[in-house]
Amino acid sequence: MKWINHTLIAGSICAVISPIHVAPAVIGATAPDWMEWVVKLTGRHIKHRGVTHILTHWLIAALAATFLFDYQGMLTAFAWGGFSHIITDAMTVTGVLFSPYSDRRFHLFGGRFRTGDPVEYAISFAVVVLCILFIKLLGDSGFIPFFYDWAGFYDKGIIDAYEWKQNRFRIL
Ligand SMILES: [Zn+2]
Repeated sequence: MKWINHTLIAGSICAVISPIHVAPAVIGATAPDWMEWVVKLTGRHIKHRGVTHILTHWLIAALAATFLFDYQGMLTAFAWGGFSHIITDAMTVTGVLFSPYSDRRFHLFGGRFRTGDPVEYAISFAVVVLCILFIKLLGDSGFIPFFYDWAGFYDKGIIDAYEWKQNRFRIL
């Protein structure tokens, strides 16, 4: 998947959960790719979507950062960003490695599209729109007011029905 889409997906999801962590999440979301460059700089050969694209590594890192050690949530955001990279790369034809113990490629949703395919942009666009909606909904009252309003209308309906029952014979 393209970096722009990795960035958009991780950045917008993180903006919903914790806006101050968008930067480390985005750095993490591109990490599996730029880590390959870093290794190449040391002169070592590295296969694309190999050792930096192992699902279990990122999942363990993300869980460890969340529950064990962390610095102001930065590591957590970084590691979950990296995990989002693996999950979205897993939707492509090439896929990713599931664990270091197997060479089998791991795919999500059948691994249908190639990197750069319009589908990829459609997915990240959908995620961004959903996240903007969530932020809008969350923003007003601290929790999702859609459900609040629903309950509000329901309460109103109950009260109206009750009042109607109490008052319906008063006309007589
Ligand atoms: Zn990648």
